[in-house]
Amino acid sequence: MKRKGATEYIDCPMCDCEIALSGDEKVGDEIYCPYCETPLKLKQTKDDELYLQEDF
Ligand SMILES: [Zn+2]
Repeated sequence: MKRKGATEYIDCPMCDCEIALSGDEKVGDEIYCPYCETPLKLKQTKDDELYLQEDF
């Protein structure tokens, strides 16, 4: 995940594009990739880093 200003971006695990987060998402939320339309679940590592995982 990279930070660009106030907006956070997370890489889609399916198509590797960057998905912009609004900042309102919480761990466990389901997000649809706007590019490949894969349902993704927002997860968090023990180091507090957010990542997305396919949620079919
Ligand atoms: Zn995608």
